[in-house]
Amino acid sequence: MNKILEIEQLSVSFDGFKALNNLNFSMNTGELRVIIGPNGAGKTTFLDVITGKVQPTEGRVLFKGKNLQKIPEFKIARLGIGRKFQTPRVYLNLTVRENLDLVCNRNKNVFSTLFTRPRATETRTVAGLIETIGLEAKADAIASLLSHGEKQRLEIGMLVAQSPDLLLVDEPAAGLTDEETKNVGALLLALAESHSIIAIEHDMEFVRQIANDQVTVLHQGSVLCEGSMDEVQNDPRVIEVYLGEAPSITPEQLNILRIAASMAWADDYFAPEQSEVILSNLSREFAISEEHQDRLKKELQNYLALNNPLETLVAKLKNFGEKERVLRLSYEIIRSNEINEKEVVVYQRLLELLDLPNEIIEQVETEIEAKYNG
Ligand code: ADP
Ligand code: MG
Repeated sequence: MNKILEIEQLSVSFDGFKALNNLNFSMNTGELRVIIGPNGAGKTTFLDVITGKVQPTEGRVLFKGKNLQKIPEFKIARLGIGRKFQTPRVYLNLTVRENLDLVCNRNKNVFSTLFTRPRATETRTVAGLIETIGLEAKADAIASLLSHGEKQRLEIGMLVAQSPDLLLVDEPAAGLTDEETKNVGALLLALAESHSIIAIEHDMEFVRQIANDQVTVLHQGSVLCEGSMDEVQNDPRVIEVYLGEAPSITPEQLNILRIAASMAWADDYFAPEQSEVILSNLSREFAISEEHQDRLKKELQNYLALNNPLETLVAKLKNFGEKERVLRLSYEIIRSNEINEKEVVVYQRLLELLDLPNEIIEQVETEIEAKYNG
């Protein structure tokens, strides 16, 4: 069968650390491939290499048989690889239709732009796209008024408008409501009928929805295993590093730790030492012995990688006590390193969601400040 992508013995080092390590991968034209793996497995780096953002230290990437080595990012995009980032990049002050018009027109050559009246085929293309992404009712709405999920769908539509042969999507379900997650899943499945797609995903419900073909599990920069979702989920190696293994704390406790961890996860990349401090902090919270803490730390590394939206996690908190604990832990996490802007934004969002009385917030923050200053 025709291969759209072949990756051979790919390695990427960052200052000696191998984010990708002798990775081999290939996929057929027309396939929808889901890639999963714990935090730090190398998933984002993998996409960065395919799009030319990061150069491999060793190995090569063949796209439709063509070696992508040293080809600049914008040229790789033109060769037919489109990437959808986690945050939507649409023109907020334009309508859905205008956004799509813009991308469709950008692709026209100089000759055809001389005749400005849109041809019937083009209007059909935009209309067809609007239908594909399910935004008929919102076609003339300003993009800033769309929900987060609708924006994601619009952006996927804008990518498709550029007719890429290979679509790369990084965590399309992150931050979406359950209903929007389903919509985006359905959209990807529809697009998969006529496109080759790689979807990186943390949300297991979502993975189950879209993973009709092969799933690839990355771990420590290499492919750990590949197979159907069922095969992968039952593979003991996968269970060990990532899925299925029941954590040694209660779901409520895990939920509390996940919220606190999202403070630290806010800036996407942090140094291993920092991650060690955070995992120590979090695992201490519910560990019943030193041994348990060691085990819990490893578990958390995998479980905290499941990137659930803050809204969903906070909604699961059962009472005031749990909320206060979340507040305390989250502030501790933020305070345990130099506070940066992104963390502050997530922390503010958390405070809104927790909706605790101001006195409590002040009291907790003051206590923790005293600990660090005293
Ligand atoms: P994933 O997307 O699976 O969570 P990443 O590809 O982002 O993983 O990262 C893989 C590993 O490489 C992580 O340990 C991360 O800390 C490290 N890493 C990623 N980017 C850089 C960078 N620019 N410099 C140093 N280390 C990096
Ligand atoms: Mg990533």
